[in-house]
Amino acid sequence: MRGMMMDVPLLTTSIMRHAAEYHGDTEIVSRLPDGSIHRTDYARTWRRCGRLARALVALGLSGGDRVGTLAWNGHRHLELYHAVGGAGMVCHTINPRLFPEQIAYIIDHAGDSVLFVDPGFVPLLEGLLDRLARPPRVVVLADAAGMPASSRLPGLLCYEDLLAEAAEDFDWPDLDENTACSLCYTSGTTGEPKGVLYSHRSAVLHAMAIVAPDVFALSARSVAMPVVPMFHVNAWGLPYAAPMVGAKLVLPGPKLDGASLHALIEEEGVTFTAGVPTVWMALLNWMAENGRRFGPLQRVIIGGSACPPVMIERFRAHGVHVVHAWGMTETSPLGAASTPKAKHEGWPEERLAELAAKQGRPLFGVGLRVVDGQGREIARDGTAHGSLLVRGPWVASGYFRQEGAPAFAHPGWFETGDVVTMDEDGYVQVVDRTKDVVKSGGEWIGSIELENIALAHPAVREAAVVARPDERWGERPLLVLVLHEGQYVTWAEMARFYEGKIPKWCIPDAMVVVEELPHTATGKLQKARIRDMLRAGKLP
Ligand code: ADP
Repeated sequence: MRGMMMDVPLLTTSIMRHAAEYHGDTEIVSRLPDGSIHRTDYARTWRRCGRLARALVALGLSGGDRVGTLAWNGHRHLELYHAVGGAGMVCHTINPRLFPEQIAYIIDHAGDSVLFVDPGFVPLLEGLLDRLARPPRVVVLADAAGMPASSRLPGLLCYEDLLAEAAEDFDWPDLDENTACSLCYTSGTTGEPKGVLYSHRSAVLHAMAIVAPDVFALSARSVAMPVVPMFHVNAWGLPYAAPMVGAKLVLPGPKLDGASLHALIEEEGVTFTAGVPTVWMALLNWMAENGRRFGPLQRVIIGGSACPPVMIERFRAHGVHVVHAWGMTETSPLGAASTPKAKHEGWPEERLAELAAKQGRPLFGVGLRVVDGQGREIARDGTAHGSLLVRGPWVASGYFRQEGAPAFAHPGWFETGDVVTMDEDGYVQVVDRTKDVVKSGGEWIGSIELENIALAHPAVREAAVVARPDERWGERPLLVLVLHEGQYVTWAEMARFYEGKIPKWCIPDAMVVVEELPHTATGKLQKARIRDMLRAGKLP
């Protein structure tokens, strides 16, 4: 027997409409690339979304067309998220930190008809022009005064002029909830970037799941600042989740240094923020160097790569609660978050810290399985490790325009490429990415734990552990460090620092100190490049 409830589709369109109707005067604050502050609210944003949708149609776009963006976190980018998807088109957020040839590949592969770009990215696009098979039309996210004086790009359009010419009463289509609303490419650490095509349904369900108390804990009393860029997996869903609950949004633009972020937190009363560990390390260091404290900040979500326990501690010393979270472009991205249960109350600090350092337990809606090489589930004892598989309504079922690609190896499950442990309560801990584990004498050594230990040493700014070929053991871990300015540490001291913290045979064999480490476009350590440097004899 079928239930007798209304079949109302889950559309992202309903999110901004709801925010405009019930949280219309809630602010959206953006720091513009020139450093000035722009203020608007949900009611005005929704009206401008109407204008933008009309402008898109006037440009000749229709349902399913891809609209690319090259932009920082700002109010115009937020309008694009909601207007493009709501109009039945696909908002394709492009990561400007990728290599130019990757950006060109992505624009061509997605088949973007129009690109909306921050003025600061016009030169980037000019450099790509000759590589594009079908150069899209370009709209600059600025008013007439902010338009570039001249450009190689033909027929540049001005965003504010387009909006001024359009009426705001757009007739939003009643879409099927499985219609695509946005597209994001993985950074392609292996092979060409792959497109993950999100649907209205997946975006709405994901947003509903992440606002929950055990995940982001967002409400109409929150002030949320996504530091994670809107070009990286939909800024972890915040452009949907914040308006869904009526939280004030603070969009930090391109300046993500410690001083700039701290100023926004203080001046705008930010209670909640989210981003990758690299950004927070810089902020915490700036605060320590300048003797600053956090006023309003309560909660920070850290993910994208492993959050070192020392970072959780440093935030805690400022009265800020860290939620360590795990996800991927293919999982929208939130899959798991680490918050304690009632049974953990009263646990000793040390054990609670260990729990907080795990990547967490699955959100409702996300299925996780950890399997061995034969596809059998491993013991949930927090020690045995295996390959993490994931499924759920906001997990990719394939990649955009790769319909002919082989099906996933585990039918119905997406293989994450992460090696993890799972404990009896379902808390997952990432040991390593499959391709980064150090295989020493038939045993696996996860690099994350070794890096986390090094990061707890006061002289260490950044740490990477990579496999170094070894005649006897196959591979051995090598520690590569970046030190804080004016600091010095010997290998003997570092080796002592490891003693007693991990089994002796897991302790790295050697250490090299470098000026800086290579990062991916999303701020992660580029282990493959570090290994290449090692092979090419480019590490001292
Ligand atoms: P890409 O794979 O292109 O770098 P993603 O952002 O999709 O981009 O990366 C997902 C991967 O990032 C995960 O498979 C995992 O290896 C890593 N990751 C994400 N969150 C965490 C975390 N909290 N701890 C450790 N690794 C993480």
